[in-house]
Amino acid sequence: MKTTVIAVDGYASTGKSTLSKRLASELNFTYIDTGYMYRVVSYFALNNNLITNGVILEDQLEVALAKTNFTWSENSESKQMMFNGRVYGDEIRTLEISTWVSRIAQLGFVREHLVNQQRILSQLGSVVMDGRDIGTVVFANADYKFFLTADPKVRAQRRYDELQGKGEDVRFDEILKNVVDRDHQDSTRAISPLKKAADAIEIDTTLFSVEEVFQKMVSTIKSS
Ligand code: C5P
Repeated sequence: MKTTVIAVDGYASTGKSTLSKRLASELNFTYIDTGYMYRVVSYFALNNNLITNGVILEDQLEVALAKTNFTWSENSESKQMMFNGRVYGDEIRTLEISTWVSRIAQLGFVREHLVNQQRILSQLGSVVMDGRDIGTVVFANADYKFFLTADPKVRAQRRYDELQGKGEDVRFDEILKNVVDRDHQDSTRAISPLKKAADAIEIDTTLFSVEEVFQKMVSTIKSS
């Protein structure tokens, strides 16, 4: 059976997850949020004393990570990704995790482990996968590739509204700094940096609603 891969890459808070989730549900594909995986590993490191005094204990994290697993939850109408048997939610979306995640994501052994897991998790069928290196590395032969951008202030405002809505006590300037810092770290790292694949369709979401971008993506897919 021919399976289809849709890769959605781009900068932080450009709406990748929301759009990818909607696309997956529209097309009846599996949605894989690879940012979730890097966030979960960051949470795991922080909560298992694998980050102490601002230093990541890389050797210990590598050993510990090899004993973990990502699986799909069963008995659920919408498939959910589990790490060591547990589904993670808002606890991996905090500013603290967002501050660590790009440093964790620079580590070669973390990337290698997670890219392997991403390929295994997507063996079930057609997928929409979002992240930073999907169209360039994980699925360089993806059937469709999108690359989302937007003005950093607009992205920070969306993230600020989201965190405020969840009751997190955050300041706009620290969110903006995190968004800009993460983009910089993600784009300049040595391994699999964030960049647009040559054959990806770039969409600047600054002036468009989620609905408008979604329609643009759907029409690109359906018209080809
Ligand atoms: O997508 P999200 O903002 O949740 O991703 C969190 C972080 O995980 C990114 O800023 C990046 O450092 C890392 N990431 C990555 N490669 C991916 C997905 C996420 O390096 N494919």
